[in-house]
Amino acid sequence: MESTAVVLAPDPVCSAYLPKGKVLLVSDHEGETYYFCSFRCKLTFERDPTRYTREKHIIW
Ligand SMILES: [Zn+2]
Repeated sequence: MESTAVVLAPDPVCSAYLPKGKVLLVSDHEGETYYFCSFRCKLTFERDPTRYTREKHIIW
């Protein structure tokens, strides 16, 4: 009966969890899509994407 499950996507910059279908701020990096809570997080990521994608693989 759970047909409205919300898929959460992590914001790589501030680690907030965002409902995927509602996130408007997205960025593609090396074939992966990243989601952001704010324009500031998106800009921070795009300034130095490898920093956040590397941390993701090491920590998670
Ligand atoms: Zn954020």
